[in-house]
Amino acid sequence: MSEIAQRWIQIQSRVAEACERVNRMPQEVVILAATKNRPVVEVTAAVEAGVTHIGENYVQELLAKKERLDRAGHSEILWHAIGHLQRNKVKYVVPFCYLIQSVDSLRVAQEISKRAAKAGRTQPVLIEVNVSGEDSKFGVAPGQLAELSMQLVELDNVELQGLMTMPPYSDNPEDSRRHFQKLRALREDLVQRGLPNEAMRHLSMGMSGDYEVAVEEGATIVRVGTALFGPRNG
Ligand SMILES: *Cc1c(COP(=O)(O)O)cnc(C)c1O
Repeated sequence: MSEIAQRWIQIQSRVAEACERVNRMPQEVVILAATKNRPVVEVTAAVEAGVTHIGENYVQELLAKKERLDRAGHSEILWHAIGHLQRNKVKYVVPFCYLIQSVDSLRVAQEISKRAAKAGRTQPVLIEVNVSGEDSKFGVAPGQLAELSMQLVELDNVELQGLMTMPPYSDNPEDSRRHFQKLRALREDLVQRGLPNEAMRHLSMGMSGDYEVAVEEGATIVRVGTALFGPRNG
């Protein structure tokens, strides 16, 4: 068995254990492989180990990897865009993207809706929220989230499905807990304000260092890179 396949089994069992601690079902949690800067051979190993959700930060890499894996016959893969998305790149990802997780402006959302209409589909999206308020982070400020959510649910060819966040990096997974709790609280607030539950069904939070904490706090999608592929440049 490949190292990647072994790590995949370990991640799944850790997610299951985290679910058990808080009385959730493991099937409620999608484990997505974050493949930025990873070569196609490694992505292929992950897919052969059973990974079906792939998330890429960079549009160029997303297109290149999709083409290679399509050609290898891996039509089962569900492709997610998880990095900051520029408006002029939207047209490349909309035709096939299962979920765009990083919408943080109305302008980008409008472009997604327009391109999705052209492709004859509705594009599922998440809003990326900058919960910590760090300057270096993409994502909408919590104070602007309600307005953007209300605007997105009005767009014809965009389907809002929830929220995504990336807390500040820390060696201690417990440091992320309050940020995950905040994202969940923001979701509750939006539902209180009348946003449909289905528009808030996903919380995409938790990466290699803190995905178990994220699951305990209600994540429905965790995004793991190094925990699956090994240390960067390694
Ligand atoms: C890199 C990245 C991940 C995965 O990070 P790891 O710490 O390697 O698990 C998840 N989500 C996003 C948006 C990323 O950029």
